[in-house]
Amino acid sequence: MDEKKAKQQENKNRLIEEEKILTVMTTVNPGSSKEALLSALYPFGQMIEKSGVVAFPTETVYGLGASALDPKGIEKIFIAKGRPSDNPLIVHITKTEEVFDLVESVPEKGIQLMKAFWPGPLTMIFKKEKIIPDIVTAGGDTVAIRMPDHPVAKALIEISGVPLVAPSANASGKPSPTTARHVWDDLDGKIHGIIDGGSCLVGIESTVIDMTLKPPMLLRPGGITQKMIEKVIGPIQRDEQLDEIYRGNSSKKEPHFPGKVRSPGMKYTHYAPKAKVLILRGRREKVIEKVQEMEKNYRESGQKVGIITLDENLKDYEKAYGKIHGEAEDICNNPCIRSLGSVKEVEKMAANLFAILRDFDQTDVKIILAEAVEDREMGYAIMNRLSKAAGQNILYVDEEDRS
Ligand code: AMP
Ligand code: MG
Repeated sequence: MDEKKAKQQENKNRLIEEEKILTVMTTVNPGSSKEALLSALYPFGQMIEKSGVVAFPTETVYGLGASALDPKGIEKIFIAKGRPSDNPLIVHITKTEEVFDLVESVPEKGIQLMKAFWPGPLTMIFKKEKIIPDIVTAGGDTVAIRMPDHPVAKALIEISGVPLVAPSANASGKPSPTTARHVWDDLDGKIHGIIDGGSCLVGIESTVIDMTLKPPMLLRPGGITQKMIEKVIGPIQRDEQLDEIYRGNSSKKEPHFPGKVRSPGMKYTHYAPKAKVLILRGRREKVIEKVQEMEKNYRESGQKVGIITLDENLKDYEKAYGKIHGEAEDICNNPCIRSLGSVKEVEKMAANLFAILRDFDQTDVKIILAEAVEDREMGYAIMNRLSKAAGQNILYVDEEDRS
């Protein structure tokens, strides 16, 4: 963003600060009948028609919705989130045929993926039709489209009568929200409505694949894995940056952390809690040993540490720190230890990730030491988000692991 644009954004943000919006929050039961949902969501459809913005649950994370055809509403999304205007938005639809009004053409492989994964956590990029405003695509000639698989999201799109853009409903840079409470914490007074429909099952954002390239290119890993996609349409390519983000970068050292830390700086920081995050990769025993050694050093220098581990490793920490309480009792012993879940249930680990990062914001933890998870299947998406939360601060505890 150039200086003039940054100034403009700052002025807009100030305006919105001065003009606090009364945020209306309603709870709905996603299991209700479609008629009941449509009627409960009617007022929110009205807000969207009047260029308001409304947060709603999807199966991935909570989205912040406005009409995809209404630049006035969409601008409010950018202001509320503090999102840079060069980051394009995903258009959400409820019926497959709607896609043909929004894009120039859909290649055969696109049709195959729609049949296999829509509705669901897969976003596809196509050449856009003129009807899509530039603000949606950051001025580009392609548009990202997805059909969510959540009764509340579907009903809101239907009652609004238009496709909705819906970036994650968090303040830009923070972990994506997986509960209405997370949305409230970030956006109360900045948006018109919040629809509380419970926790999001997938818990991380949709997979994004660019269908305008040959072969199609994976841009963001998510709920639908590369393997699942390749089973349907054959080999795809992967954006080079994805593996760079995952591996970290050896060119610079991050002074905040002792040891061999790779950091290209904070350029890719996203999904970040208030505390600094460091990922530790390597053999299980080595990682646990290193975490405890670092924890001790930080504790002695007066900094409280958070640890993100896995169910399978909890007993090793209990040996060192005594009984670890479950989240309901006390999420913050010293150190504050949270488990993503069992390695046998990688989907559940993904679903827990953002809520755990946000929980640390409620504590006085200054440093979070996170054990890397295996990067197979959904694990690849987990590591993508965790690496961004860590600004690529990755510590390799065994040098031979760095592949
Ligand atoms: P979010 O709305 O926070 O889930 O983020 C949307 C993601 O989709 C971002 O990573 C965007 O960069 C990506 N995206 C949306 N539209 C396009 C597009 N036309 N081309 C490339 N990436 C896109
Ligand atoms: Mg987001």
